[in-house]
Amino acid sequence: MSEKSEQFDVAVVGYGPAGAALANILERQGMSVIVIEQFPQSYLLPRATHLDGESMRILQSVGIATALAPKLGTYFRMRFEDSDGNLLLDWPRSRAPGIHGWYDSNRFHQPDLEAALQARVAKSPRVSVRRGWRVTSLTQDDTGVLLAASNEPGETLNARARFVVGCDGARSTVRSLIGGEVSPLAPPEQWLVVDFTLQPGAPELPEGTVQYCDPKRPVTYIEGAGKRRRWEIMLLPGDDPATFADPENVYRLLARWISPKDVELERAVVYSFGSAVSTRWRDNRIFIAGDAAHLTPPFLGQGLCSGLRDIINLAWKLDWTLAGRAAPGLLDSYQQEVEPQVSQYIGEANRIGAIIQVRDPEKARKRDAMLRSDPRSLTSIKPRLGGDLWGQKANPLAGTLAPQPKLLSGALMDEVVGLRFALLARPGVLARLGSASLARWQSAQGVLLEGDGQDYLDSLGVEAVLIRPDHYLFGTARSAVELEALIDALPLAAS
Ligand SMILES: Cc1cc2nc3c(=O)[nH]c(=O)nc-3n(C[C@H](O)[C@H](O)[C@H](O)COP(=O)(O)OP(=O)(O)OC[C@H]3O[C@@H](n4cnc5c(N)ncnc54)[C@H](O)[C@@H]3O)c2cc1C
Repeated sequence: MSEKSEQFDVAVVGYGPAGAALANILERQGMSVIVIEQFPQSYLLPRATHLDGESMRILQSVGIATALAPKLGTYFRMRFEDSDGNLLLDWPRSRAPGIHGWYDSNRFHQPDLEAALQARVAKSPRVSVRRGWRVTSLTQDDTGVLLAASNEPGETLNARARFVVGCDGARSTVRSLIGGEVSPLAPPEQWLVVDFTLQPGAPELPEGTVQYCDPKRPVTYIEGAGKRRRWEIMLLPGDDPATFADPENVYRLLARWISPKDVELERAVVYSFGSAVSTRWRDNRIFIAGDAAHLTPPFLGQGLCSGLRDIINLAWKLDWTLAGRAAPGLLDSYQQEVEPQVSQYIGEANRIGAIIQVRDPEKARKRDAMLRSDPRSLTSIKPRLGGDLWGQKANPLAGTLAPQPKLLSGALMDEVVGLRFALLARPGVLARLGSASLARWQSAQGVLLEGDGQDYLDSLGVEAVLIRPDHYLFGTARSAVELEALIDALPLAAS
């Protein structure tokens, strides 16, 4: 059977968290979206447990942060301990919300996030979700992409979209179809990941995350949201991955902390923690995002966070392109900006992984001494975007994250701005702009916030800041002349 092809602004391949977040954010921009997912049901077992403050702010832009908030846990510390249980390093997180208006580190259950994303999609007439279809081919022409998918009985689904985004995970079909290649950035290591829920009467367990840096067997403990607890246990040479996840082995390895009566075992799976970046994120009208574009080992809790950074970076650029206001090169800037940034996150995750995974006793002694003597050897990184940043690169603030201040009205800034540019400025600054810059600012359809965020402007010593829809700074201006230059640099099509 073959269906008549339907027409959409964007087709999203894969209904994991990246695909579902993208569908929501595009829908919020008024686009029609089809999501095609190979499996009839969601993946219900836990994977990611940590979301940073930037990711929570992206989920606010996606429209589901409030729905997810009651299910979040907070997370204030990661301790590193030596093989005798002595503290090597305490890596605290702030107990107050950070610059994004959210805690810097949040605990969550990935299926809760996916359910919240899917519930919002279900309410929208603009998004059509087709489950049980596997995308097999993409054919593009000057105006769009024809997508073909097949199902179990061998039927064919055709859809046409102006753009396609492959959010189809680590084994991405879309990545293969556009000729993207991945090669490992560090040797993958095998770890057993075990998730439990605590039962009444369970013993007191540590707060936050603990890295048990025992060269005989590195182990990570994670206090999850609510009663969820996770242990990750490194496999050693000679361990048999086929039997390592057996419950008897799991409880033997964790006897120091829990016994079967204390917990309900949800799942135990041996993972290969890999790291990789695709060589190619775009072929004309086809893109990849999320795990399809990059893989991060979970030592930094940044895999899904990176996928969310991808989708917000791409979403406003697709919006501008479909609205006909994008400068040539705007869509190319997606990979140029995000790939160098995610590569830094992956590099840092691998560095922390190498610290945790030391197995040689002599190297472990040196590692322990390093962590004890330098408490700042581990700090949260927030890498700047890559690319030429539209001529603003000489300004060290361009391409770095902007805070989300509370406005004088009491609202958080992004609630008012949405997925648009925001101009935080001293009162009266627009009146000093020339007519050409004013016209450009109007075609950018940004939001002017005069008088708001003055503390932030004071802290930078500037008259205005221009914030991109993905929450990164486009640039800063110390005068009306500098602001004109900034507005002239916006990636707008020639009028
Ligand atoms: C143990 C573990 C711990 C982790 N911890 C963290 C953490 O704390 N913080 C964090 O940020 N990240 C973490 N991650 C990473 C995070 O889980 C992933 O980055 C995230 O799930 C990737 O989402 P995605 O939507 O890109 O891909 P996926 O979730 O893999 O979704 C891809 C979807 O595409 C579908 N699909 C594939 N091919 C096709 C096709 N041809 N046609 C149609 N559909 C298709 C798949 O069925 C799937 O539903 C962790 C991962 C693991 C395994």
